[in-house]
Parts: sequence; C-alpha cells; structure tokens
Amino acid sequence: MLKINPFKTAMEQLSHAAEKMKLAPEILSQLKKPDRILHVSIPVRMDDGAKKVFDGFRVQYNNARGPYKGGLRFHPQVDMDEVKALAFWMSIKNAVVGVPYGGGKGGIIVDPKQLSKGELERLSRKFIDLIYKNIGEYVDVPAPDVNTTPEIMAWMVDEYSQLVGKFTPAVITGKPLSMGGSQGREEATGFGGMVVLREILKRRGRKKSQSIAIQGFGNVGHFFALFAQKAGLKVVGLSDSKGGIYSPKGMDVKKVMEWKKQMGQLKGYPGTAEVTNEKLLELPVDILVPAALENQIHARNAKKIKASIIVEMANGPTAAEADPILNRRGITVVPDVLANSGGVATSYLEWTQNLSGYYWSKEEVLKKLEKYMIDATAAVVNTSEEYKLKDLRTGAFILAVSRIMEAMKARGL
Ligand code: GLU
Repeated sequence: MLKINPFKTAMEQLSHAAEKMKLAPEILSQLKKPDRILHVSIPVRMDDGAKKVFDGFRVQYNNARGPYKGGLRFHPQVDMDEVKALAFWMSIKNAVVGVPYGGGKGGIIVDPKQLSKGELERLSRKFIDLIYKNIGEYVDVPAPDVNTTPEIMAWMVDEYSQLVGKFTPAVITGKPLSMGGSQGREEATGFGGMVVLREILKRRGRKKSQSIAIQGFGNVGHFFALFAQKAGLKVVGLSDSKGGIYSPKGMDVKKVMEWKKQMGQLKGYPGTAEVTNEKLLELPVDILVPAALENQIHARNAKKIKASIIVEMANGPTAAEADPILNRRGITVVPDVLANSGGVATSYLEWTQNLSGYYWSKEEVLKKLEKYMIDATAAVVNTSEEYKLKDLRTGAFILAVSRIMEAMKARGL
C-alpha cells in the first residue's frame, strides 16, 4: 500500500485553513515547525540476556497555550513524521477543546505484543530516564495513546518521581486510579466522541435507529461502541487489527467484548460475517467510525464510502486527498481534533486534580467533560458557519489557530 506521510496531510490541512482565514505568513511558517524534537536510543536488557536498542521520540510542537501535552504510542510503524503530525494535531486539538495546553506527542518503535511484561517495564522506565529533564508537570505532560496503558503510565510516573526526588503525579496523565488517575479517564475518549456525535445528530434532526460501523476495538473503539449502543444506535460492524465482523441485524457490544477476551480476536463471533478492515469502511451504514490508525480513508476508497457521517475517533484517519472527495459527496466528517478530544480534556481534569490534591467522583468528571464536548462542538460548528465552510475540519482548524495566535500575541511571541 502507498505510504501517505501524515505530516504532509497535517500541513495540507493547516494550509487550507490558513488560506480561508487569511493567516499572516509569519504565523503560518511558525506553525509549520515543531519547537523541539527529541530522538533517543533506548537500550533494554531483554529476558534472554541480550541487549536491544529501541528508537524513542518526543516532539514538543507548540506551547503558546500551556505545557506541551499529548500521548505516547508504542507501535512498529512509529516514525518521526508520524510523531510530528500527531504532536501538531495535539496543538490543534487542545485549542479546539479549550484546555490550557500546547501540543506534543511521543512514541517508541516497538511491537509491545512481542515483549514480556518485564521487558516492557524496563523499556518504559529507560525512556523516562532519557527524557525526564525535558518533561514536567508545567513543561510537557505525556499520556497513553496506541498500545500504551495506565500501567505503563504508572511505571513512568514512578521512574520520574524517583529521578526528581518527589512524587509527581501531574507529570503524566492516564494513570491508574490508585496512583492519582482520574475517574472516567478510561472511557473518556469514547464518551466524549459520543457526546459530539449526539450534538451533530441533534443539529441534523436525527433519524431513528441509525446503523454504525467502528474500525478498531482498542480503548477508544470499544468504549465508543458501548456508548453508541447505549444511545440507541445499531452497531452492525466492528473490527480489530486481526479483521472485522458484520451483521446487518446488529450485535451486542458487551457480548462481543466477552468473545474477544476469550478468543483474542473479533473474527468468528457467532451470527456475523467476516469483513476485512478495508471492507468495513465501505459497509452500507449511516455512521462510520475509524478508531484505529492514520490514513484509512484515502483517494481510492473515499468514493466507496456509504456512510453519511464519519466520526474520526483515530488521529488522522483521513488522508488530505480524501477530504475534498468526501466534501463533494456531502459526507459530514467530524474531525479527529474535535471527535476524540474527550481523552485529553479528561487528562486535563486529571492534571488539575493532581495539582490540587482534591478528587472528583466519576459523575462529576463526566459532567465536566460533557460540557467541554458540547462547547467545543458548538464552537467548531459556529466557526464553520461563520466562514461559510461545508467541512468541519477547516472550521476546527480556524478556531484552534485563532486561539493559539491569541495566546502567542498575549505572550509577545
Ligand atoms: N493520546 C490521546 C490523544 O491522542 C490523549 C492525549 C492526552 O491525554 O494527553 O488525544
């Protein structure tokens, strides 16, 4: 498959918004470059005694609005351009959802499924040893992303705390509850995405019992599926990295989860047909939710999508070349920087709880999160209307860039 550079996609999205908002060229050129790039070699002693060296990255993109903020991804396909794109998108996302952060992202080139738990812990701790001077609760605050878990965040906070000599839970979010994590953080991204979808459907005057297919069954995808079902949508398609399942009659997400726990995959779930991850995107559904990796929707399949709404729960699932095709076809794309911003919004709530030492109940957290998502959706829709744009992505970018610019100006940057 043709490799599409996600940073190129990100910069095309930015240029498009810059043109519409008539952004000053000096601001545009500043936004096209990250503030700082860290690339470290991480030596790890493997269980068999051999030493292996992994590549780790942290990109600190922009901190006009506050500390750099964004997740860490463990994946064999991680590369510098991907991390740069993801760090840029975090800067936009944090401004869209209105939390006082800049944008950053990190990653390690590794397939964590090939590592033992001990190896994974040593890798995670060593990465922090190598970057701890460049992160901090008011400097740069990592979090989970693809294949990274609360447990990994706990090891990292512990390592950081040992290095600086004091317990510092606010340096990383997405922690386990027992270590200063927030109620609601685990389901936050899925929950937030469903609030955004609900708000969009309200504006469109929703039809009853809409069907939905979701690509990806990780933390984001499976919680989104649960909340979608709870909201009365019919979940007809699901997939994970091993393949997908389809049933026009719909399926019970909880039962599918139990199946996946037992079998280690979705494929073979009784009463469903097998579909590939590519075919899942082309199913006859009302709503399509890419919740896995980048570049799933491109020029070749954008014409074949049948859904009328796409909710981008993954980061960067739509290549820049596909956007005009989807727009021309009248498909509403709810952009990643809005749709999946519930994760980082709840990271912000976790961080404020850590800094104040006062903790909220799950109801309180989700209520605050819901307000962030409602406000962000309204702001994006309004900006798009104000600029007479059909696509919400450009509206979201204009909103975010205006907010970042305002902070840059206020600080005299
Ligand atoms: N990795 C998530 C994202 O892409 C969450 C980042 C965070 O909480 O800092 O938005």
